[in-house]
Amino acid sequence: MGFATDAIHAGQKPDEGTGAVVTSIQMTSTYAQEDLGKNKGYEYGRVHNLTRESMEKNIATLEKGKYGISFSSGLAAIQAVISLVNSGDHVIATANLYGGSFRLFDTIIKNYGIEFSWVNTDNIVEVNSAVKQNTKMIFVETPTNPLLILSDINAISKIAKKNKIILAVDNTFMSPYFQNPLVLGADIVVHSSSKYLSGHSDIISGIVITNDEEINKKLKYTQKAIGAIPSPFDCWLILRSTKTLALRMKQHNQNAIEISKYLSTKKYVKNIYYPGLKNHPQHKLAKKQMSGFGGIVTVEFVNFKLTKKFITKTKLFTLAESLGGVETLISHPATMSHGSVPEKRRLEMGITKSLIRISVGIEDVEDLIADIENAMQ
Ligand SMILES: *Cc1c(COP(=O)(O)O)cnc(C)c1O
Repeated sequence: MGFATDAIHAGQKPDEGTGAVVTSIQMTSTYAQEDLGKNKGYEYGRVHNLTRESMEKNIATLEKGKYGISFSSGLAAIQAVISLVNSGDHVIATANLYGGSFRLFDTIIKNYGIEFSWVNTDNIVEVNSAVKQNTKMIFVETPTNPLLILSDINAISKIAKKNKIILAVDNTFMSPYFQNPLVLGADIVVHSSSKYLSGHSDIISGIVITNDEEINKKLKYTQKAIGAIPSPFDCWLILRSTKTLALRMKQHNQNAIEISKYLSTKKYVKNIYYPGLKNHPQHKLAKKQMSGFGGIVTVEFVNFKLTKKFITKTKLFTLAESLGGVETLISHPATMSHGSVPEKRRLEMGITKSLIRISVGIEDVEDLIADIENAMQ
């Protein structure tokens, strides 16, 4: 089936009792058991929930995976993924990981005796030479936030397979519509469902997808044992949202292409980062492993005054954390997502005060461009 068909049908069927077309929000903590040791496969809400199972099956299908295991946030999902490794193990992670993932690994997981190497995973040679005897996982984010640096998932998966290492990919920025890491050779995909999957900036949730039975078993166990599960209502909202994921992603992509082209022509723009632009250093790789370029455009203005002007004078661009919603949002990495990164390191990374990240929404792009035009005059 095609993506949009799966998005609308996978994991869902009309209710057998009533014929209700839409999967219900199953608000129950417990299930009646017919006899001792006899039940319908549902016992307790932390372990089983119909709405959650539908949503997990739905997103697993979109990611071309067999199993979906969902969590109360993207970070809870990432915590479950990293709990697949043990004390004494070594993990290779993308140097410029999402701030929350970095914080989790560096300030909490590290204390459990797990060693991390922060590697520029866009460079295959660096990935290869970072592999050690005890390396058990490579954790990659592509494209990265906010500079949209790509890592070659297929090339990294070859290194992982050769060395019996689990490859996990955070696919939040592309959504399953534009990139399917499992097809490219990854063992695990993780998403913050708070972003494109839910797409309306109204919930916090996360999910892990895999084809590996052993990994699925362990993650299901973590889901049950730790208990960081999403609520039935949040699961229902995600299920409702993925029905329009194809339409939304097409529009995010289209709008982002037009905005990035428009901004490329402006004298007040110093640098523009978007994998869809021909001058993006990894445009070729983007075309190879992604079927679109996504909705995130990062812009550096020639000075901070112009950056402030853009942030304060635009009316349709809301200054806020997060991304992937229908409305256009801007974030200022230097003071927001990367505020705790020491200034020297931040500048080395290229994240100056004059840089903003735009999560391009699905408004009429003419209105977005007119808004920029007015603001910058
Ligand atoms: C937002 C985000 C996360 C964390 O997800 P939450 O749902 O906020 O916990 C992880 N990775 C990426 C790339 C994100 O954008």
